[in-house]
Order: sequence, then C-alpha cells, then structure tokens
Amino acid sequence: MDQIRIENLEVFANHGVMKEENALGQKFLVSAVLYTDTERAGFTDDLKESVHYGEVCHFITKFMKDNTYKLIEAAAERLAAALLIHFCNLREIRLEIKKPWAPIGLPLENVSICIRRKWHRVYLAMGSNMGDRERYIRKAVERIGEDEECTVKKVSDLICTKPYGYTQQDDFVNGAMEIETLKSPVRLLDFLHEIEAEADRKREIHWGPRTLDLDILLYDDERIDSESLTIPHADMCNRAFVLKPLMQIAPYARHPVNGKTAAELWRCLEEGGCSY
Ligand code: ADP
Ligand code: MG
Repeated sequence: MDQIRIENLEVFANHGVMKEENALGQKFLVSAVLYTDTERAGFTDDLKESVHYGEVCHFITKFMKDNTYKLIEAAAERLAAALLIHFCNLREIRLEIKKPWAPIGLPLENVSICIRRKWHRVYLAMGSNMGDRERYIRKAVERIGEDEECTVKKVSDLICTKPYGYTQQDDFVNGAMEIETLKSPVRLLDFLHEIEAEADRKREIHWGPRTLDLDILLYDDERIDSESLTIPHADMCNRAFVLKPLMQIAPYARHPVNGKTAAELWRCLEEGGCSY
C-alpha cells in the first residue's frame, strides 16, 4: 500500500512513570507511516481522497497533550487506534514515539516504541437456539457495531437449522457477518465472549444449547493454532449452517489453508463433502 510519512513531529507532553514527568512534561518525537491508497487522490488531485497529513499532525499533538499515560506503549497504542478510527482513508499505521529526555540518569540519544496497527477484515458466525433466538443475534450485531474498534460491513440473512453434534436440542438460528476490526484475534475472542456472557450464555454441554454463540471464521489470511483459538475456524468447512450465510455475504472469501472460496466450500459440501 502507498505511504504518507511524518517524521519527528515534536510534542511537549506529560507521559511517564515518574510523577515529575507528569508534572513537568518533556519532549516527545512522533513519527508515523500512514498506509493508504493514494491512487485516487493522485488522479483526482482531491485532498478528500487522501489522508490530510496536516490534520494528522494536529490530531497527534492534541492527543499527546490532552492525555497522560505512564507508558509510551500506552500512548502509542491509544494514539494509533484513535488515528485509525478518525481518518477514514487510513488503513494501517506504523507509529513511533521517541522519548529523547527519558530520565534514566544515563546519556542516551533516544528511547522509542514502534508499533504497527491496521484494520483487519473478519468473518464471524453467529448462532442461537434458546429463548428469543433472533433477538440475541440482532443484539450481538448491534453491540459489535457500537464498539469503536469494530465496523459492521455486512450481515447475512438469518436461517433456521437443525442442531449439529449434540442433536437432542432445539433448532438453531444462524447467520454470518463481515466486520472490520482493530482488535487482535485474542482481544476479539475476549470481546465476543463478553457479548456471549451478556446474553446469559452458560457453557455447560459442549455443542449444547446456547443463547448466543459467536465464532471467528476467518481473520485476514491469518492461520492460528493455539490452546484457545483456531483460525480459520476448525470445523467451518463441514458446517452448512456456517457456509450458507458466509457464502451469501462473501462468496469470494478465501480459506487461507485449503485455498477454496466460501462458494467453492459450499458447493463441495452440497455435493457430499470434500475432505479438508
Ligand atoms: P463451539 O463454538 O465449538 O460450539 P464454544 O463456543 O463453547 O464451542 O467455544 C469453545 C472454545 O472454542 C472457546 O472458549 C474458544 O477458546 C475456542 N475457540 C477456538 N477457536 C475459536 C474460534 N475460531 N472462534 C471462537 N472460539 C474458538
Ligand atoms: Mg463458539
């Protein structure tokens, strides 16, 4: 992606672990690489199509002065998120905050923190088979949309399906959604668990009845295998109730492990299943 670069914007602000730093303040130098597609701006010569670097510099200065953090890690994390949320053409940022006067009693030229953050494209599966099933799902969509680190891009139709795995339970309502998020996979999973808990979800029987189930299907092209998280979702290719709504909103979304699109996976399952 194209880049707009800001180097060493000087801001006097009050971040630091020591009280003196918070009271007296010190110099910080902020550098940023703004990742954005500049082609349209290049051909139209219209600033609205780009990211206004002057406004970005004023935004950074105000943010650094208005807030006080102990850690430059915290300043960088919050500032990167605030910039990505505020500037709509900004897709990704590399942000560095230098602290040239860090009071450690030794002559150092600089200490800095450098992070890279971006909007991620994520597909979620939603399911419910207890109580007002549609309402639980609609509330979850609303709740995700209210979070400033998430943008809801598409929501599928909700479909009614027979239970899978543990079959002695009521029918499900299922759907899928496409979101953009600043949250890492683990933070996103925690957030989804919070929403499930708010919907009175109890984890009793594995694959058992639930008011709300929110699963991460795809997260960019990431492949994750850890104790608490498998991405792409381990069983998505075998579940019609996942693939049907996913295919409706994103037939072109590609599974990064087997290379098939949602439409291909759905067709495969309809024809009797492929082994992945
Ligand atoms: P299921 O969704 O399989 O019916 P649960 O909702 O009870 O079961 O999830 C059990 C655990 O699965 C969660 O606590 C979570 O840590 C783990 N998990 C692993 N990969 C994913 C994923 N891609 N999306 C959601 N949960 C996942
Ligand atoms: Mg789940």
